[in-house]
Amino acid sequence: MSIRFILYVSILLGLWLGYSILTFPIINVYHYESACGQWEDIEVPAKGRTLRGLRLRFKKHKRGCNRAPHVLRRTTARDWSNCFNWSDNIHHERWSIPYHKPRAQAKRR
Ligand SMILES: [Zn+2]
Repeated sequence: MSIRFILYVSILLGLWLGYSILTFPIINVYHYESACGQWEDIEVPAKGRTLRGLRLRFKKHKRGCNRAPHVLRRTTARDWSNCFNWSDNIHHERWSIPYHKPRAQAKRR
């Protein structure tokens, strides 16, 4: 490996690290919806709006809604571009909820 190659790689890694620091969100918001199209909600861990609470609100919705199917979908995709997300991307429970593109009719209200 030449010194020039090592220098280029170091510069690229440095730029990526800088990008990751600058684009890391102060507050993460994750979107979810029900396959029935009548319910959507957000998870904001920094504000105490946790996944556990979201699951409870989804249960509540299921009781009061007669449309099927009631499948919880995550509509926020994993972001691998920021290296500070990686640990969360691999370990957090939310990513085991299947991803689905947001429905057109379930627009943000
Ligand atoms: Zn429903």
